[in-house]
Amino acid sequence: MSEPFYFSISKRLPQSGNGLGKGGKRHGRSAIIHTPHGVIRTPAFIPVATQAAIKGVLPEKMEELGAQVLLSNAFHLHERPGEEVIDEMGGLGKFMNWPHPTYTDSGGFQVLSLGAGFKKVLAMDTAGLSKEDIVAQNSERRAFVDEDGVDFKSPLNGSKERFSAEISIGIQHKIGADVIFTFDELTTLVDPRSYQEESLERTFRWAKRCVAEHERLTEERKGKPYQALFGVLQGANYEDLRRKAARQISSLNVDGFGIGGAIEKKILGQICAWIADELPEDKPRHVLGIAAVDDIFAGVENGGDTFDCVLPARCARNGAIYTRLGRYNVTRAAFLKDSMPLEEGCRCYTCTHYSRAYVRHLLRCREMNGSTLATIHNEHFFVHLLDEIRASIEGEYFDEFKESTLRRFYGF
Ligand SMILES: [Zn+2]
Repeated sequence: MSEPFYFSISKRLPQSGNGLGKGGKRHGRSAIIHTPHGVIRTPAFIPVATQAAIKGVLPEKMEELGAQVLLSNAFHLHERPGEEVIDEMGGLGKFMNWPHPTYTDSGGFQVLSLGAGFKKVLAMDTAGLSKEDIVAQNSERRAFVDEDGVDFKSPLNGSKERFSAEISIGIQHKIGADVIFTFDELTTLVDPRSYQEESLERTFRWAKRCVAEHERLTEERKGKPYQALFGVLQGANYEDLRRKAARQISSLNVDGFGIGGAIEKKILGQICAWIADELPEDKPRHVLGIAAVDDIFAGVENGGDTFDCVLPARCARNGAIYTRLGRYNVTRAAFLKDSMPLEEGCRCYTCTHYSRAYVRHLLRCREMNGSTLATIHNEHFFVHLLDEIRASIEGEYFDEFKESTLRRFYGF
């Protein structure tokens, strides 16, 4: 019998009375998520290993830089190599030689974003990304939502496929991550209010079906490590819809929550607070696809526990380097003969062994090691930032740490 999944809060942010929750409440906390593959001390950053890999970086190096948990994508792993393969190989963690906790997202985002046909990512800080990163390669609408699920054309070979609540949960059970997510409908900020309402109800119906299928498969697959199911909350920028989603999803038998969907950057903290007002305190909350340093602080302060983002790795491959003093591009000519590390004082493997001049050279020659070295630094930056935020909550200096970090990073 494997360890059960549970969540224990270590410390709450002090109440200053001017938080964004009801009555000025601040929902931020530090905590520990216990999974069959070990613990996650939160707030925590979760690097994204979409295809069961961080592009260019071995799992051993991710462990060394301090990552506690990796998030893979059910849709991509379903397309290749197929969930049966991963199941037969002993599950996601074993397959990729990562003995620590794993998450998979439901595939809803990937399937539904085929339908949008324009921006793949709806609430993202787009600086540092190439055009291909933010604009779908094919503007043809490739996904169609109905009551039961989503029809779409495979981006791999154009064949007709279908995703639904039951299909997504079946795939995620076979992949075998410690935390899996309900299949939700992703809306965009440009959808009208009436569609958001309709979609919210559909997402709730899908979540109920996900829970039922999850319970059935948990019973059927007894003896496998327990997988926790997180319910995903939609509702775009609307307070009443966000609160309603939180009440609906928390009425179900779920182990935690995913804060998803279209979010306008400037109210991300407020949305997390509305949701946290309605959710039970004793279950973890994952903020899906966060994009920037200030967003992470807003998410933590308002009750987010874990955060995933593809940006550090994606930016690294384009030469964009995160530092405490902001982001810069190391491929610029100014770094041709620069013997400094990517960031002064950084203790990551790259910064303790390599110079800017060398990393710049590799990136400009499109040598794979260039991406590897830059990615190690950027992933370390975010993992370490969340470690420092956690320490600041536990040491009761969160407000000072937030202010000084944001001032340095954004230069104000
Ligand atoms: Zn570094």
